[in-house]
Amino acid sequence: MRVPLTVNDFLSRALTVFPDRTALVDEPDFPGALGRISYAELGQRVAGMASRLDAMGYGVGDRIGIVSPNAGKFLISYFGVSGYGRILVPINYRLNTDEVQYIVDHSGTKLLLVDPEYAEAFSAVKVAKKIILDGVEDAELFAPAGAHDEVPHWEADEDFTCSINYTSGTTSRPKGVQITHRNFWTNSVTFGWHATVSDRDVLLHTLPMFHANGWGMPYAVTGMGVPHIIQRKIDGESILQRVAAEGITLACGAPAVWAAVLDAAEKRRSGGSPVPGRDQVRIVVAGAPPPSRTIERIQHELGWEFIQIYGLTETAPLLTINRKPKEWDALDPAEVARRLSRAGTPGLGVTLAVDGDGEVLARANQVFESYWNQPEETGKALSDGWFHTGDGGSYDSGYLTILDRKKDVIITGGENVSSIEVEDAIFQHPAVAEVAVIGVPDPKWGETVKALVVAKAGASVTEDELREFCRERLAHYKCPTSFEFREELARTATGKLQKFKLREPYWQGMEKRIN
Ligand code: AMP
Repeated sequence: MRVPLTVNDFLSRALTVFPDRTALVDEPDFPGALGRISYAELGQRVAGMASRLDAMGYGVGDRIGIVSPNAGKFLISYFGVSGYGRILVPINYRLNTDEVQYIVDHSGTKLLLVDPEYAEAFSAVKVAKKIILDGVEDAELFAPAGAHDEVPHWEADEDFTCSINYTSGTTSRPKGVQITHRNFWTNSVTFGWHATVSDRDVLLHTLPMFHANGWGMPYAVTGMGVPHIIQRKIDGESILQRVAAEGITLACGAPAVWAAVLDAAEKRRSGGSPVPGRDQVRIVVAGAPPPSRTIERIQHELGWEFIQIYGLTETAPLLTINRKPKEWDALDPAEVARRLSRAGTPGLGVTLAVDGDGEVLARANQVFESYWNQPEETGKALSDGWFHTGDGGSYDSGYLTILDRKKDVIITGGENVSSIEVEDAIFQHPAVAEVAVIGVPDPKWGETVKALVVAKAGASVTEDELREFCRERLAHYKCPTSFEFREELARTATGKLQKFKLREPYWQGMEKRIN
């Protein structure tokens, strides 16, 4: 028997087994917020949304965009749009009007749902229909289904596109990644399994819901009847308050989220207040390689379990997982943190390889179908039976280590230098808040290593001190030959450094970006 694997399976199970449980705690005091609702009510609102979209004339295959920070209505849209064969286009709300317009046009979005806080910012975006999620304009769309509502039928197909997620733009123009129901199904089930999601979990949405649909974790936890606690903005103290108030056990996010939580926890401790969540919370971190010092602090100062994953929007996203196995129990915390700073071991069903150029390749059922309307790009990414990640890495003894975005490898005097390794070393300096290491052209060495550093507020450090600090920790050739102090570093909404932007000024007038 073959039953199509769709995201509806996760919601159906919650509706069957846990109808009375809290499904959603929306951000309080926000226009249009949904408050605290049960799984039964979530199911009714999902059905209501589907029937109204149908009545408005949006059929199977039509694209419905949403541009919003984390919100209860985003969760409803995951199911109310995709669960009925319409295609969700989640859009990063930190983009500008032109970038949103590009995605709307490129994806052929017919209806755009806009968070009220961003209504003004995106008022100039042109689309056939726009609905502001303010509780007034969208009141009907998000109302629970009534007895007279006809819920549309969709002949479920696991290979159908569930959503089109535009990549975050760390490279060039965003590409629309078509993630199918089957992709999300295999990702969510293996991710949920590796992260041991159970019906006792409570998820805090610290990861943007637009980013690969919260890495597919929202589907996984829904299948177990887990409450979704919405976190609209990243604020360390507010995250700690929710951990205490809602009994949070699980959260995903980029390293910057956890740096904010560590800062807030430090403030609490110095003010004599307790830090919640010890031996209760586990966090899943990806997007950028977290410095080993941050990992050690999470485990030591917060007492939260640190899990690293690696993947891409194109892989829905889970490729590897690094979670402390029992064999490491006797190791000292610094060594555990060092080992956890690798991307990890392949998830169930994932095959990895590194090609002759050092590029990480992957095969798995969660690898995407294609880039929306970009067959050439699809062909490049999916050739020879492998997905080409564009990341440089090494794969030894079952562990993958991401050494760089492939193009970020700095080759100086014929030696490869991982900018991540250098960043990790500099980050250990107590006066350093942020650091980016880039390759810049050098007449003698081809390329040379440069560090862009943001100092912590109130701290001071000199170039000579940092140079000395690096020399104590790194091979000489890896040490930056110059340091520049900056107020801030360009990052994407999900916390990744925009290296190509940081590097650009140094390469102007040159034909290539490597030397
Ligand atoms: P995105 O498609 O926006 O999720 O970005 C995927 C990219 O993020 C990957 O190609 C990597 O360059 C980077 N990335 C994700 N997870 C990790 C990780 N654990 N360590 C290093 N880089 C990561």
